[in-house]
Amino acid sequence: QRYAKRNVWGYEQFKDCMPRRDPYSHKGDHGKGLTIGGSATMPGSIVMTAKAALRAGAGLITIGTSEKVINRIASQCIEATYFPIHEQNNHPSIPFEEFDAITIGMGMGRSGNAAALVAHVVEQTDCPLIIDADGLFHVKTDLAKLKVRKSPTIVTPHPGEMAMLLDISVKELLITPFYWSMKIAQTYNVYVVLKGKHTIITTPEGIQVVNKSGNAGLAKGGSGDVLAGILLALVMQQRSVFQALCNACFIHGKAADLLVEETHSDQDLMASDVIEGISKVYRTLS
Ligand code: AMP
Ligand code: MG
Repeated sequence: QRYAKRNVWGYEQFKDCMPRRDPYSHKGDHGKGLTIGGSATMPGSIVMTAKAALRAGAGLITIGTSEKVINRIASQCIEATYFPIHEQNNHPSIPFEEFDAITIGMGMGRSGNAAALVAHVVEQTDCPLIIDADGLFHVKTDLAKLKVRKSPTIVTPHPGEMAMLLDISVKELLITPFYWSMKIAQTYNVYVVLKGKHTIITTPEGIQVVNKSGNAGLAKGGSGDVLAGILLALVMQQRSVFQALCNACFIHGKAADLLVEETHSDQDLMASDVIEGISKVYRTLS
């Protein structure tokens, strides 16, 4: 597909809009983020999200997951803190008000408990909320609840998840992806990040841009979890949610591009490498 040049979010836009760190800043200035997800069979995704968020500049990251998962992953992201989310129904104990933004869904699975937790977070939180992966599966039954949230809601589906949300086929979605993105964004008052070779970012007001950074090295498990972390970090550090989303998608793809140019190939690239690649993107700004 062809896009008008003004609708592409590229390096110039990233460079102009990316906030620089104040020399006197402290960790609180860069956001305290909560990332909820992970399960017995998918413990790693939430680690990648947390690491990517910290690499992307977040001040503090808390991982909210079950106690069993915490025991398995705590040594893999030693910079994060951990909040146990019990499998029983005591979700109200999560201190949501402490956080500047939340991301939910990565590797959380499709159990009834996970569904209840997503519903609870959608209804009870009043900060920017990024919903990804299994979080999208759970939210499908109650999309109308997104509309009444007072703070920005961001959904980040790949084409399969987007088609699932819309009850259409992937083929149908990919014929008019701008149309379908706009439809979800405006019907449910959400930001939509429709991921793919080219990622389409749509605001509830109907602004649409395309990110074209990234390569087929990202076509591997974990890439989306890394993007969720970068999104979380930037949403906490930029006043404009729109610019934060565009910059995050650009950084994610550009990290993969620089890695493939310099040290890796699109065959061997792994999601963990992309987390390290964020440094390469940021260093181009200094
Ligand atoms: P997920 O499917 O949730 O793991 O997300 C995959 C991530 O990798 C998204 O950010 C996609 O935009 C990106 N991605 C996947 N395949 C490609 C590709 N062939 N070219 C560029 N980006 C890709
Ligand atoms: Mg994903």
